[in-house]
This record gives sequence, C-alpha cells and structure tokens, in this order.
Amino acid sequence: MENGQKILEKLKEEISQSEYNRYIKNLEFDAASSRSDILIYNAPNILSAKWIQTKYAKKIAHLYEVQTGINAEVVINIKNKNQKRASKLLSQKNKSSSSTILNPTFTFESFVTGESNRLAYNVAKAVAQKPGIQYNPLFIYGGVGLGKTHLMQAIGNYRLNKGDKVIYNTFEQFMNRYIAHIRSNTMDRFREYYRNCDILLIDDIQFISNKEQTQDEFFHTFNELHSLSKQIVITSDRPPKKIAGLVDRLKSRFEWGMLVSINPPELETKIAIIKKKAVMDGIYLDDEVVNFLASKLGSNIREIEGTIIRLNAMSNLLRQKITLDFAKNAIEDYMQEKKESITIDSIVETVASELNVKISDIKSKKRAKKIVEARRIAIYLARNLTPNSMPQIAIYFGMKDHSAISHTMKKIEEIIQSDENFKVLIDEIAHKIESKKIS
Ligand code: ADP
Ligand code: MG
Repeated sequence: MENGQKILEKLKEEISQSEYNRYIKNLEFDAASSRSDILIYNAPNILSAKWIQTKYAKKIAHLYEVQTGINAEVVINIKNKNQKRASKLLSQKNKSSSSTILNPTFTFESFVTGESNRLAYNVAKAVAQKPGIQYNPLFIYGGVGLGKTHLMQAIGNYRLNKGDKVIYNTFEQFMNRYIAHIRSNTMDRFREYYRNCDILLIDDIQFISNKEQTQDEFFHTFNELHSLSKQIVITSDRPPKKIAGLVDRLKSRFEWGMLVSINPPELETKIAIIKKKAVMDGIYLDDEVVNFLASKLGSNIREIEGTIIRLNAMSNLLRQKITLDFAKNAIEDYMQEKKESITIDSIVETVASELNVKISDIKSKKRAKKIVEARRIAIYLARNLTPNSMPQIAIYFGMKDHSAISHTMKKIEEIIQSDENFKVLIDEIAHKIESKKIS
C-alpha cells in the first residue's frame, strides 16, 4: 500500500508533463485511510477531484494491479476535509499490504453471512476452532471479491489470538520467496520458515498453473505440514479440477480435505453487507439508498465497498446528503463510465484470442460452428458490457436488423441456463475484457 504514492510516479511516465503538473502532481496518497485493496487519494479541490476520478482513477488502478497483483478500487477525495475520519480509520484499519501480516478487520465477527457463504463460514469457523483435525486442507473457492481472503484471514486472526504461528502468503509471494531462496542458495532457510508454522494460509493458488518447480516445492511443504497435522488453508477463484496445469498429485491432495465454495451474495446478504460497511466507515445511508445500491451493484463486495466510500467522498465534496436521487446520479454516472470504457472492438478481440478464431471471421458471415459460437458470444457480451443498442450492434456485425441480435441473446441465455461450463467460459471472457478495459 505504501505503493500508492509510487504508482503516481509510474503514471507520470504514461501521461504528458503538462497533464501531470496540472492534475497529478498535487494529488496526495492518503495512506492512513487506504487499504491494500482500496486506495484513497486527496486532490486539492472539487473540480480536480472529479476530473481525476473520471480520467485517471482507472489508470491508477491498472498500474497498481500490474505492480501488486491486487485489483483495487481507487477513490479520489479532497484534501483536508476528511482528516478526522482518516485518523479514525487509521485506528481501525490495517495499514499494511505486506502480505505476511493479516488484516485485523478480517474477522468472523465482521463477516456477514447468508445463503451464499454460510457453509464456507461455518467450515472456516470449525477450522479456526479445531485446526489440523477435521478439514485439512480447507480449500475455499469462488469469484472475485466474494470474501475468500476475508474468511481465510479470519481463521488466521483467530489462531493468532490463540498464540499460533500463522503464515499468510499469496501463492505469488510463496513463489517469489522460493525463487529468491533458490537464487541465494538458502533453501534450508526457506523450508525452515514454512515448516515451523502452525497454520499456513495460501491465497489465490490459481496462479500455480504450469509453475512446475514451485508446485514441487509446494507439494513438499504441504506434505510436511500435513503429516504434522498442521492446518493448511487454500483459496482459489476456481475448484482444483479447473486449475489448468495443476499436477495431479496436488489436485488430489487438495481434494483430500474440504472443498467449499463461496457464491455471489443474494440480495438480502448484499443489503446486510452494505449496512455493516456503512456503519464501520461511519457513513449514514438510509434504507432506501441501501436497497437501491444492493439491487443495482454487482456481486463483487470490494466494488460495493469502493462505491460506498466513493459516494461518501462525493457527498463530502458537493456538501450534499446521500439521498436516493444523489445515489442514483452518482451510480449511474459511474456505471455508464464503466460501460463506456469497453468497446465492441475490444470484446471481439478478446473473444477471438480466447476461442482461437480470427477477428475477421467473427465479423464475417461464415457459418462454421466454431465461428458462429464466437460471434454469438461476442454479440452477447457487446450487449451486456457496452451501452450500444441492439441496432448499433447489428450494424457492427453486419446483420440485417436488431431481431438477429435479440435472437442471439435468447440463444446464449438458454445455453447459459443449461450448461454450467458455458457459463464459466462466458464469465471468464467477460472478466478478461473488464480487466483490459483501460483506455
Ligand atoms: P476475495 O478474496 O474473494 O476476492 P475479499 O475477501 O478480499 O474477496 O473481500 C473483498 C472485500 O469484501 C473485503 O473488504 C471483505 O471484507 C469484504 N467482504 C466480502 N465478503 C464479506 C462478507 N460476507 N461480509 C462482510 N464483508 C465482506
Ligand atoms: Mg482474495
């Protein structure tokens, strides 16, 4: 997170000197109120804050993700207004992104449960209470921002309080450490470090794909700890069988223990989460606004949190209360912006590379099965991820009229309903498109 200021240096390399001097030079990273996944910057005045939010926030988030692997929300505030709040947050919140340190706010108490995550919560709690016995390893999987890291660290915090030695690493950190020790010829210290812990938390293991040497070492670490009945907890954005390039012997180890998924929160859970976050951040939202946000925002809880903080920042900037209308305007602008940054071109490009067909074929009238499928997926995504109307999309793909588009939409929705794998494929492509959207 101390990276927040450094990222602005990176941004400097990507924009013109005059732009930098005008907007970014006076932007200050607010380390006290930021978190590793929510970066808060202070601009000198309202106008530049708004401008920076629309024009540069996404770029900053992108540069940060490249540096740290963390997909963070970027919020632009104005200077001096929130000093008090910042120092209040400072006392509550974790300031460190240094991975081996747990975020103290990620506890069982601060985790809101509902249908979508109750099983994962209960199992995690059981593991925290009796580590190394019943569910070892515990493997938690689910989409981005659904609470995997939170639950994993809740186990860690719980054990830390009991005096256990807890190691939390993202898989990438595990790997980097491994590489560093290989280079310096100090593998004995590496092994010593991991084998002396009581509980090992490995976050985002999906990045293990095709990293054979690290998989080997992880396999040994795993076996050693497991044979000593030390608890191991792993998270991933997908179940072990869907991690490409994961060696069978690790796959089967992961399946020995407990596999549990976290699903996207249903409406009531979203409402409860929004209420809790608002209270924790000292932001007042009435029920009308809460319900509106819950129904309008997606299932990524990190994004929901970012939106609440952004709403609050805007309400401070403009000195307006967060009424339903205020929230509607703010959210609609934001959603529009998000949509506009994705183009049909970028969708076609990603679909083509993911499905291994040519861009020109997708835009052609060819009827080969593979091409038709790619074209349909591109159309479906164009309709869902961009603000283009059906007639506009029809023109782009050289189709007669919008009825062809609406037919395609129905078709794809039917397949999504009946075929889980197809749905996963669509989600993955959509995710790729969204993460590339920086202009
Ligand atoms: P993931 O690791 O699955 O991408 P995180 O655990 O980092 O997601 O969660 C993203 C943010 O959402 C965190 O700030 C976390 O505290 C919050 N969050 C997720 N699920 C819940 C929940 N059920 N109750 C409260 N906060 C949650
Ligand atoms: Mg996570």
